[in-house]
Amino acid sequence: MIVSPAFAGKRYAVLGLARSGLAAVEALLASGARVTAWDSRDEPRRLVADRVELGDPAGIDLTGFDGVVVSPGVPLNNHPVAANAARHGVPVIGDIELFALARPSLPAHRVVGITGTNGKSTTTALVHHLLAAAGIPARMGGNIGLPILSQRPLAANANGPGVYVLELSSYQIDLTQSLDCDVAALLNVSPDHLDRYADFSAYVHSKARLFTLQSPGHDAVFAPADPNVRALAEREILRRGEDTVHLAHVERFAPLQAGWPSLQGPHNLENVAVSVAIVQALGVGRDSWEPALATYRGLPHRMERVTEANGVLFVNDSKATNPASAAPALAAFPPAPAPRIHWIVGGLPKGEGLDECARWFGNVAAAYTIGDAGPRFADLLAPHMTVRRSEMLADAVRQAIEAARPGDVVLLSPACASFDQFRDYEARGDAFRAIVRCLTEPASVQAAGL
Ligand code: ADP
Repeated sequence: MIVSPAFAGKRYAVLGLARSGLAAVEALLASGARVTAWDSRDEPRRLVADRVELGDPAGIDLTGFDGVVVSPGVPLNNHPVAANAARHGVPVIGDIELFALARPSLPAHRVVGITGTNGKSTTTALVHHLLAAAGIPARMGGNIGLPILSQRPLAANANGPGVYVLELSSYQIDLTQSLDCDVAALLNVSPDHLDRYADFSAYVHSKARLFTLQSPGHDAVFAPADPNVRALAEREILRRGEDTVHLAHVERFAPLQAGWPSLQGPHNLENVAVSVAIVQALGVGRDSWEPALATYRGLPHRMERVTEANGVLFVNDSKATNPASAAPALAAFPPAPAPRIHWIVGGLPKGEGLDECARWFGNVAAAYTIGDAGPRFADLLAPHMTVRRSEMLADAVRQAIEAARPGDVVLLSPACASFDQFRDYEARGDAFRAIVRCLTEPASVQAAGL
């Protein structure tokens, strides 16, 4: 756990006791702070009840508090905690800001912050992998894996500082005021989470703060294929000069991509270009990063190859929760010679249509629509491809298996959030895997008694 004398004798309120909130409570208590904590659910409250005061920071008197730590899931744009904290002049922060405040008391280290609408987790995990391959101690946290505060801090290292690699959503950036990344990176920005921001430019501005928080001399990496990212990169070049702004161009990597089994598809070229620019800024040489790209093993639910049965490949891309992230999955399987993707699409829609995917409709043999977005997506796709209105995931998989020929791909890349039918994208991906296994491995059906 990360503890710091910076919190000793201080007073914090914590709202939201899921993983990062609980980690914040533990780190603050272990550092000698007084904590008032709250969650609307009874169960997590009980976990901390004997060690904290229970009280909802949205309603209590916050006089004398040093900060209100909120979970990134709390919608600050319309949650009463924001007004209550403002009334008392108390900053609203997140666990990443606590980490930033704890940094001065940690052994020498560096921090990488990675943001973007899509590709954050892949890039974070890949940077972690490239650092490990270079023999540099690293921890990975933020929006991925274990909360950063609950991890063992990096020890002092005689061969050079270790690196904390943080995946940062725009919500997490909104909740930090002092995270000064040694290297900050932006992958892409497309409309997402617009329920939490006044408009798209407010969302872009949120991501841009990661760079304005950096000290002079620290490095910034941008993937310039996205015009919004390019505009921000140009702004940063004007502000800080060219030396510390690195543009991650994908072209030089394309000829190497065939050698990376877990980094296929055009989107992964972008993730690789950004990851390599990051580790190069940290001093890792080509002799180290190039062979390490081949040994990276992907993350679950992102273009995950589930199985191959009767010549049909099943791919779980449940993490594609918006059209911009589903598009590269469609691009990854071109016709050979006829379209071969059986595309399971739908869920809780994030926007109006599937515009970002349209360029790749020619790669789709048939679409199987599910969830809330199903009927609208079916109408929208019908002029371009065969459409089955499956509604349920299990029906979609069954229908896709019936239609698929050897060489085809059954792809779950829903372009939507999952909450209409599943707890989260992981539950949706797990369900897809289980259904595929049941329907393609008769033995597992018998074993499961189905
Ligand atoms: P995040 O953590 O930002 O959600 P992930 O690495 O988990 O990103 O990938 C989420 C989804 O986005 C996956 O479906 C993946 O195929 C797709 N994706 C990954 N990288 C990119 C990228 N650079 N551009 C667009 N889509 C991407």
